[in-house]
Amino acid sequence: MNGNLKLAIQRKGRLSDKSLELLKACGLEIDTYSNKLLLSAKNFKLDILLLRDDDIPEYVQDGVADIGIVGQDVIAEDRAEVTEIKKLGFGKCKLMIGIPEREELASIKDLEGKTIATSFPNILGDYLTENEVKAKIIELSGSVEIAPSLGVANYICDLVSTGTTLKLNQLKKSFTVFESQAALISRNNINGDEAKQKLLTNLLSRIDSVLSAKKSNYLMMNVPSAKLEKVVEIIPSLKSPTVLPLAEEGMVAVHAVIPNETFWNIVDDLKLAGASGILLLPIENMIA
Ligand code: ATP
Ligand code: MG
Repeated sequence: MNGNLKLAIQRKGRLSDKSLELLKACGLEIDTYSNKLLLSAKNFKLDILLLRDDDIPEYVQDGVADIGIVGQDVIAEDRAEVTEIKKLGFGKCKLMIGIPEREELASIKDLEGKTIATSFPNILGDYLTENEVKAKIIELSGSVEIAPSLGVANYICDLVSTGTTLKLNQLKKSFTVFESQAALISRNNINGDEAKQKLLTNLLSRIDSVLSAKKSNYLMMNVPSAKLEKVVEIIPSLKSPTVLPLAEEGMVAVHAVIPNETFWNIVDDLKLAGASGILLLPIENMIA
């Protein structure tokens, strides 16, 4: 035992790159060029275990890992006793009912008496129970989308992002059963371990600053002093903008942190109001 915080992430799959990207954005130096199943951060007391995503909740529950990054779908299906600490904003997908293209479902009740193939029998079972619908669940470990054409099931319940896979199998989206994204989980008793909890608190504040930085951009522009008031009115700034004098008389520089999605809504108004040299920059970290 080296006292390092142990983090489990997916070894190879949809969450792997984004998980490592997040850790690197947190300022952790991780050598990812090796093929090992265990990586270490060079500048933080952190070991990274690379696992199949299905195994992550149990490893964290049993304390083999202290924390983990895994999809909420896997957490819910696994029913492991772990604590979900934070949603991470990537790996977003929906667990949906897929039905043959020519059929329509008017309400969830239309699932009554049907057969539904899925790799998520627990989540689907809970959903059916909550909606007081009795349907037969067929558990398949993969290639769920071919079940209707094989006559194995009427419908499927599977992860969907764009719906292309459904379409290829003459299926279409129906109801959403569960919405998922990657989340950080910890073992339930981690706060009883002071040293580990301290490392986790440090890592969490880094993650918070990376996540809030991602939601914002840094806006810079030059504005004639006479137009300053008008320009400031347009900026949907999180805090009061910074105004700096410029060498050129009668001109000021205005800097502001704005929510990501707002830039294209205001850029024309800014130009009309007299702003020039408008720059929009990404923010790496934002500390409250
Ligand atoms: P493993 O070999 O580790 O068991 P897997 O094949 O079970 O991998 P992936 O397909 O890599 O898992 O998906 C991992 C997680 O990514 C899923 O549990 C889900 O949370 C999320 N995910 C699944 N499909 C999508 C999608 N289309 N877009 C974004 N995220 C998705
Ligand atoms: Mg898996």
